[in-house]
Amino acid sequence: MIIKSTFPVDRLTSIKQHGLAKSVLIIESVQELIAFYKTNQPYTLIGKGSNSIIHPDCFLSPILQLSQTLTPVSYKQSTLTVPAGLPTHHLMGFLQKYECSSLEFSAGVPASVGGMVTMNFGCWGHSISTFLIRARFIDSSGNDMWLTNEEIEFGYRTSIIQKNNLTLIEAEFLCTPSTKEKIKARIDTSLKKRLAHQPLRHNTFGSIFKNPIGDFAGRLIEESGLKGHSIGNLHLSNQHANFMVNTGHSTYKDIVEFLQTIQDIVLSKTGIHLEKEVKSLTPYSCSKLGSPNLT
Ligand SMILES: Cc1cc2nc3c(=O)[nH]c(=O)nc-3n(C[C@H](O)[C@H](O)[C@H](O)COP(=O)(O)OP(=O)(O)OC[C@H]3O[C@@H](n4cnc5c(N)ncnc54)[C@H](O)[C@@H]3O)c2cc1C
Repeated sequence: MIIKSTFPVDRLTSIKQHGLAKSVLIIESVQELIAFYKTNQPYTLIGKGSNSIIHPDCFLSPILQLSQTLTPVSYKQSTLTVPAGLPTHHLMGFLQKYECSSLEFSAGVPASVGGMVTMNFGCWGHSISTFLIRARFIDSSGNDMWLTNEEIEFGYRTSIIQKNNLTLIEAEFLCTPSTKEKIKARIDTSLKKRLAHQPLRHNTFGSIFKNPIGDFAGRLIEESGLKGHSIGNLHLSNQHANFMVNTGHSTYKDIVEFLQTIQDIVLSKTGIHLEKEVKSLTPYSCSKLGSPNLT
């Protein structure tokens, strides 16, 4: 286990939230994870933080991240098995190495496999759940188990993983045999599409609000006259109204207040309540005895 003390929180989230955490533990083996859970300490689990902000109360207890070498990578019979801590850009490397096509649509997103499965990552008509065969978890009592795709109960940016406070440690994906060149071309196409439509090079989350049924959060934000709206160091992107950009040292409070302001204005202008897609890792999620992350 790697222990990092007094750790700057801006290195844990893609929005670069300002703050200092007491400790970050990089878990390097399944045994270490089980041993930690058996200590019954409160904790916060984070992947690459590309969809999360962390409540300051969580700074007081360990923040856990899973090492990308926690479990091995393998490819057999159209099945790619990868560890939860694997970042998306390395995942793209393995798709090319094993010449297996599946998750190229996630290229360019600064996420981890664990976060993507938990959130049922999706875009352009694709979602992780279409490709996931099964995944391995440790529960908060230290039990080690595999759950099938159906058992994970995927929905729109949801799964039972958070509800049941499970820690995903590795996942198996169904792939279609392809060639390096074709996979690289798909990755390049996804990257170009993202660069054209999203502020990929800035400190941002993905979409801050979920799309209401039959509509788009970005469209409602634009209709409310909020595209480009800014408060302090935070603004809504001119490229994509449902993306928030941080240009300074914004804190948890700044971010939560900004999101609330946008929600309130959209509600008053359109009558529609936008539900947050961004996860607010609250004191509850610091404790396995508490309820899972609140949105
Ligand atoms: C530029 C940009 C573009 C994006 N585009 C998209 C998009 O097209 N579609 C989309 O769906 N999202 C998008 N996102 C949002 C984000 O990348 C996804 O939600 C992604 O799935 C989050 O992965 P993460 O590892 O960063 O998760 P985190 O933000 O670290 O965590 C998200 C949640 O998952 C939990 N979690 C993380 N790892 C584990 C684990 N191993 N076991 C159990 N729970 C875990 C955390 O506790 C947290 O509650 C984008 C983000 C950015 C910055």
